Order: sequence, then C-alpha cells, then structure tokens
Amino acid sequence: MPPAITAEGLVKRYGDVIALDGMDLSVPEGTVLALLGPNGAGKTTTVRILTTLLKPDAGRATVAGCDVVADAARLRSRIGASGQYAAVDDHLTGAENLEMVGRLYHLGARRSRQRARELLERFDLTEAADRPAQGYSGGMRRRLDLAAALVAGPPVLFLDEPTTGLDPRARAGLWETIAGLVAGGTTVLLTTQYMEEADRLADTVAVVDRGRVIALGTADELKDQIGGDRVELTLTSAGDLHAVRQALASLAVGDVRADDAALRLTIPVSDGTAALTIALGHLAAGGIAVRDAGLRRPTLDEVFLTLTGHQAGAPAGTKEQDR
Ligand code: ATP
Repeated sequence: MPPAITAEGLVKRYGDVIALDGMDLSVPEGTVLALLGPNGAGKTTTVRILTTLLKPDAGRATVAGCDVVADAARLRSRIGASGQYAAVDDHLTGAENLEMVGRLYHLGARRSRQRARELLERFDLTEAADRPAQGYSGGMRRRLDLAAALVAGPPVLFLDEPTTGLDPRARAGLWETIAGLVAGGTTVLLTTQYMEEADRLADTVAVVDRGRVIALGTADELKDQIGGDRVELTLTSAGDLHAVRQALASLAVGDVRADDAALRLTIPVSDGTAALTIALGHLAAGGIAVRDAGLRRPTLDEVFLTLTGHQAGAPAGTKEQDR
C-alpha cells in the first residue's frame, strides 16, 4: 500500500527566512506521525503545504494519492484539518458551525444536520449544541474544531498542535478521541511541542529543527537515543541507599546514580511507569521509608540539546514534562 502522506525535499522560503530546508516524510496509512519541534521549526509550514494552503518552492508531496500542487482540489476533499488556522465561527452555535462545514462539502442540508448531530454527540457537545461558540471553553472549542475536520469523514487528518492550551483532563480526552479515529483506519499527521503527546499518540515521531527532520523513530527509540526515562527515589535514611540500589539494579538499563548527600537514587529505565510501580512495591515490601518518588522523562529541551547541541528555544511552560 502506498503511504498516505509523502514529502520529498520540501523547501519553503519567506524572504530570507528558510522555513523548510529539505523536509522528507512518509506516513503509512492508518498510522500517526508526530512532527515534534519548537516554535519556528517549520511544523506549521509543513502542514500548510500538505493541506494545499501554501505552495512549496521546491520538492514534492502527496496526500491520499494526490499531488499537493497538481491535484490540490481533489486532495482537499480527502483531508480534514484542525488547529491554529482552523476557524470556528464565534457567532454561530456549535451545531451551525458543523452544518456549515457540511454544506461546504456539499453534503446537503439533511445530511449536514445529521452529521453535525452525530459529531456533537461523539465530542460530548450535545448540551452546548445550540449555544454560540463564543461561550465555549478552550476544550470545547478544540473539540468543535476537531469535529469540523471530521464532517466529511476524511481518510487523512492534519492536527496542528491539537492540545496546546488545554488542561490535562481535556488533553487526555482529546488523545482518546484521536486514538479512536486511528483505530478506525484514519491516518493522522499532528504537530506538537509536547514530548508526552508524541509519546502517547504517535507510531512515528519526526523531530523537526530548522526546517528539516533531524531524527525519526518511535518515541521509545528517540528516548533510548537520549537516555530514556529515569526513576528518581529520595529516601529518608542513608543506611538504606546501598541496599535499595542493589535491589533495584535489575530494573536499570544503564548505571544507577546515587547522590549520597541528597539520599537520592536515579535509575535509568526503559518502561518508566512499570519500573516506578515495581520500585515502590519493593520499597513498601521492605518497609523502607521514601521521602519522594517520581518519574523523570526526557523533556523536549533535552531531546533537542542531545540531538542538536542547541537549545530548543520553546517558550516557558512547554519545557517540563515531568509526571
Ligand atoms: P510554531 O510552533 O510557532 O507554529 P512551527 O514549527 O510551526 O512553529 P512555522 O510556523 O512553520 O514553525 O515557521 C517556520 C519559520 O518560518 C519560522 O522562522 C517563522 O518565523 C517563519 N515564517 C512562518 N510563516 C511566515 C510568514 N508568513 N512570513 C514570514 N516568515 C514566516
């Protein structure tokens, strides 16, 4: 089966700024590719080219079998897009917004209304269906925006920073929705600044820096490349440190670091959540007191620093992905 999305050597310049500098991508059908990168890396420009809103200066790309330049009109009927540039009309109700999209796709009045109702229900917006969108919360707007992208049932979806600005609960809800679409066979390309989001949703992560892909792999492969998860345990007694270090050595995928002064052990692990559970179980069984326990995951900054040798330059608030 040909890939649902391909890009070869895409170049885009804005005056002196080289937004894309040889972007290559290939996304198999029914999978999720995450473009992970800081502000200005070229993620949105890539999405705009793949959704025909912009023409590349060089290179070529196809989506759902259509060339982004030569078959632009046919391509547009096969995709849905949601994100930074997608428009929810504030003055229309949720239902009216979706019906309008249906009409734009020539679904007809009845089918548009029916499709709107289905999607409002699926996105838990039925109660708010007849209220103007301007009164919606951030999470509700995102859901409405995603619903709008699904009106025509497109086989390929583009989601530009789908959960930026959402609270953790709304974010988790949206992740579940996206995972459900993919389980149904939809191909998704999403952009994100969140390592955790790429980790949760993507089959493949393309780390983007300065307009090109600088690393490609599963989230686990990338994390392994940069050191992976760490379980951090802070004990209350120095006497326990050595014994715990030995007991948990089998969990580690590298050297366990012990900070005697801070009474802290740092254990590099491959499956962080499982390892943390095992570590805590072991400590509880041994009656060993713990002051603090947690999982440290590589942040986007750490990914960048390791892969590029320079800081990502992401704004505050996007850096800490600890959990
Ligand atoms: P963000 O997370 O901020 O959306 P991004 O990774 O999506 O970042 P792009 O928006 O694709 O990055 O921008 C890539 C580069 O192109 C940046 O240096 C940006 O300033 C520049 N750029 C994007 N759009 C324009 C434009 N319309 N005119 C001039 N420069 C632009």
